[in-house]
Amino acid sequence: MAIATINPATGEVLKTYDPMSPDQIQAAIGRSQEAFLALRRTSFADRAGWMRAAADLLDAERDEIARTMTTEMGKTYAAAKAEVTKCATCCRFYADNAEKYLADEPADASAVGASKAYARYQPLGPVLAVMPWNFPLWQVIRFAAPALMAGNTGLLKHASNVPQTALYLDDLFARAGFPHAAFQTLLIGSDAVESVLSDPRVRAATLTGSEGAGRSIAAIAGRELKKTVLELGGSDPFVVMPSADIAKAAQVAATSRCLNNGQSCISAKRFIVHADVYDEFAAAFVAAMGGQTLGDPMAEGTDIGPLATSQGREDVMELVADAVDKGATVLVGGAAPDRPGWWYPATVVADITPEMRMFGEEVFGPVAGLYRAASIDEALEIANATDFGLGSNAWTTDAAEQEAFVTELDAGQVFVNGMVTSYPHLPFGGVRLSGYGRELSAHGIREFCNLKTVWVG
Ligand code: NAP
Repeated sequence: MAIATINPATGEVLKTYDPMSPDQIQAAIGRSQEAFLALRRTSFADRAGWMRAAADLLDAERDEIARTMTTEMGKTYAAAKAEVTKCATCCRFYADNAEKYLADEPADASAVGASKAYARYQPLGPVLAVMPWNFPLWQVIRFAAPALMAGNTGLLKHASNVPQTALYLDDLFARAGFPHAAFQTLLIGSDAVESVLSDPRVRAATLTGSEGAGRSIAAIAGRELKKTVLELGGSDPFVVMPSADIAKAAQVAATSRCLNNGQSCISAKRFIVHADVYDEFAAAFVAAMGGQTLGDPMAEGTDIGPLATSQGREDVMELVADAVDKGATVLVGGAAPDRPGWWYPATVVADITPEMRMFGEEVFGPVAGLYRAASIDEALEIANATDFGLGSNAWTTDAAEQEAFVTELDAGQVFVNGMVTSYPHLPFGGVRLSGYGRELSAHGIREFCNLKTVWVG
């Protein structure tokens, strides 16, 4: 894929970039290693000061970088600004909490014949981050903030369609005071990832992206025996039971499905509704989806901008066409407008059967699948019937049902009576084909650390 900014609202190529040469990549890895040797000896207080300065830069430059994101991948300007603010919050969160999360863990010294025994978290070194375009700032910051606070350095291979956001990130942390090259962007295609990850100076990798990219990174890392964290796709269930506030559930369902123009890994994608409230929910949900405004992502009042890439829209259209060909019903939306840019409206598809691709595959656009369940057992069966396991939503006020969903949903997170969202305070990640490892919270910062056992006689 060419490294280029192409405005998805118009299809216009705005800027193209040459990928870095193998020599330039080698030099960047060398700088990352040197920066690590400096960074690992700095104090938490120093790093926290620089991380807070990065947060201040993000706040000060919010509108400008938000505009860049909207131009590169089509999210609404309002959503882009909120994303920048969330990034600043995450930087401050790790500035405040890193030292506590990585404090020495005392052990019972007498039980192991020592005068002192404890475990210490130490940084690993340069970590490669392969990142997607859908939250082009947030996905990177949620890796970079904890990694840098732990004392690791970062090498970013960003998605090829967001190079200007990638270059903004290249010097953000240096401008905030971190040692030169503590965080760098490598302008490279995915074909160059293997050479970076195989380099002995690169100690680990994190990837947020598709299942295919996950398998590829994991295979290289397996051969090289390097630690990885994989945040992959999702097809989150959103189960609605009779006791729920149906009007609220329908509204949140539409918001979740259309978030980021429908291109979020943790968007609810499959809406599984108990038969007793199916008609009521379906009517409210279809109305809420039909009310989503598709339009200029820079304009106030737009809910859905264009999809990020031409291929992405093709994929969405193929999945809907496959379902319709096999007997599904489109309740609203379902047809792409005939104009330049990669537009696709909020869409609800009902009568989905297991033969349809939508049943098991992730739809990365504002398309909801609606399912009817006769009981909680059937709802759980449908909810767990994909190979993904990222987020999940359950709507019920019945305590026993809540407990059943918390226990039985096969996913990395379950949100009851609310929308799945990521917070710096809570672990984030998936199971099965949604990947492994955790980001955010104390767990995220410990992923790229050597937990060193210390025994003193
Ligand atoms: P993608 O094609 O996998 O791209 C993600 C990143 O991986 C890009 O930087 C891409 O580079 C790179 N890449 C692709 N194939 C690769 C390979 N074989 N080897 C090494 N690197 C490779 O993903 P996408 O389709 O753009 O993004 C959407 C996917 O990401 C969805 O499945 C979504 O659910 C998932 N996602 C997951 C999370 C989460 O936290 N779990 C969050 C956001 C998105 P190029 O751009 O150069 O191809």
